[in-house]
Amino acid sequence: MHYIDITQQKIIDAQNIHYEYMRYVIKKKLNGKYFTEPKPNPNIKSIHIVSGIHSEVKRFLNVEKNLRKVLVGTPEELDSIKSRFTTKKEIDSIKRLFDYEMWIDYNPKSTYHFYNAYDLAKNLDIPTCPYCNRIYTKTVTNPTKITRPTFDHWFPKSKYPLLALSFYNLVPSCNICNMGKSNDPFSLNTHFHPYHKSVNPAEILSYRFSFDYKDYSSFKFKIVPDNTFSEKSTKAFKLEDIYKMHEDEIVDLRQIRDVYSVDYLEMVKKKILLNHISEEEIYRLAFGVHIDEAKFDRRPLSKMKKDILKELGII
Ligand SMILES: [Zn+2]
Repeated sequence: MHYIDITQQKIIDAQNIHYEYMRYVIKKKLNGKYFTEPKPNPNIKSIHIVSGIHSEVKRFLNVEKNLRKVLVGTPEELDSIKSRFTTKKEIDSIKRLFDYEMWIDYNPKSTYHFYNAYDLAKNLDIPTCPYCNRIYTKTVTNPTKITRPTFDHWFPKSKYPLLALSFYNLVPSCNICNMGKSNDPFSLNTHFHPYHKSVNPAEILSYRFSFDYKDYSSFKFKIVPDNTFSEKSTKAFKLEDIYKMHEDEIVDLRQIRDVYSVDYLEMVKKKILLNHISEEEIYRLAFGVHIDEAKFDRRPLSKMKKDILKELGII
């Protein structure tokens, strides 16, 4: 589980593109030919007005700052507007305007052919699932659309349809985390949101991987959370359970320790690589993952391995 750094340029760029394109589509759907701004992308087909939109919904979304909040508002802003509309007629209008199924449909005739889930996934370029750091979530589109991460609606779209296409409510994640997370209600001060890092330390994710022995050569993962927030968050995504699949990794790391002693890295560096390598590189070569927390998302199992290596006294 790890935060996505929203100050990275690629995230800012992805957000700006999302806003520019989605805004155009929604404005066209709301106002049709009365919305006369030029197309921000030449591949946009003509988009027709959606008739019968509830007047209050239309009024709200035609206020620029409201539409901006819906499309690219921070998780906290989304939280504040998520229940803005409640009547059946309003909800019906919202669902027709913010149609997630249409956005993930990439057939050439789709409204969103010019910009859909594949494009957002590619722009974000988050290589592993931010919930489990276990599965690659890379996007492959060449020459045809082959694979992309799923998008988890952190605020469930069934309950909050206004947030179905909100940038900070579309968390690129693996299928297992998206489908398998608990149905308990999530709130920003009780559960981890990869795009939201609280200023309150009690609401910041902090935990480490550890293990218990079953016998000398088999181990059982345990997660040691530093606060209730982290305990609830890791439980909601069943982190301890799903890491069971990787218990052989602890066996391997343990073996390294037994065979090579605690000076393993130092030895490889001096004897084999003749010092022409940085500490960071040697770690990556030895264990296949990054040591720098900011790069944990680049390789699966990065955090788990670092925590276990520390516990074993190898690093
Ligand atoms: Zn996952």
